[in-house]
Amino acid sequence: MLSLNNITKSFSGVFEPVLKDINLSLCEGEFCTLVGANGSGKSTLLKIISGEYYADSGNIRRNGDISQVVQDVNKGTIPAMTMLENMALSRMKTPRFSFYKRHKNEIVEKIKSLNIGLEKFVDQPLEALSGGQRQTIATLMAINSGGKILLLDEHTSALDPKMQVMLMKYTVKSVREHGLTTLMITHNLDDAVKYGDRLIMMHKGRIVVDVKGRKKAELKIQSLLEMFHRFEDQSLLHEGGEDVN
Ligand code: ADP
Ligand code: MG
Repeated sequence: MLSLNNITKSFSGVFEPVLKDINLSLCEGEFCTLVGANGSGKSTLLKIISGEYYADSGNIRRNGDISQVVQDVNKGTIPAMTMLENMALSRMKTPRFSFYKRHKNEIVEKIKSLNIGLEKFVDQPLEALSGGQRQTIATLMAINSGGKILLLDEHTSALDPKMQVMLMKYTVKSVREHGLTTLMITHNLDDAVKYGDRLIMMHKGRIVVDVKGRKKAELKIQSLLEMFHRFEDQSLLHEGGEDVN
């Protein structure tokens, strides 16, 4: 469904490659969580998959359209347009005015059914809404836009704890219902352990942990934390060593 072979990516001015020989295949309907320290290359990996960036080398195969929630939700929406306009546009493949009318009722019904009071804002420009509300809307847009591959970049980071749980539950239910092949970046290790069939951890541009199946189901947050610290400590030691030389 999605496969990356020997992907590398550097940015000018950044000393080390940001992605180093990444190999990753997700099969259809696989739900994979992605964790790793800030700067480890998670967002860059998603941007390569979505086509926002080109890799320097390697190749990528995508077997289906992509839907995504980018880390900066303002970039994935049109803040000056209303919530309803944004949501209708996210479903559009060919721009036609009748399209907007056709989807309007269905979108409003869907928002009401979530029962979180968002329907009050359908005619408000997105820029008038809070960051958390915008993240929720961006997620609804991504999940309902018809793509078979779903990329989520910290899509619950601006939400309060109650909304975080609500949106994660909605995400998981939708991923399963629509059989979406999903790659979900999160800093919430609880969520990373609890949800999905597979977990990968990135460290300095490489995939350093990849667990699936029974191992994933039995993974405990404590052992994930230990792995996380082991990689971070190793690189601190390494950097310390270089300073001495
Ligand atoms: P993460 O999402 O894991 O926090 P990113 O993929 O956003 O990490 O970034 C990884 C590294 O690549 C960082 O050091 C970041 O500064 C650098 N980087 C990301 N995007 C760019 C860019 N467009 N230009 C230059 N450097 C970038
Ligand atoms: Mg990021």
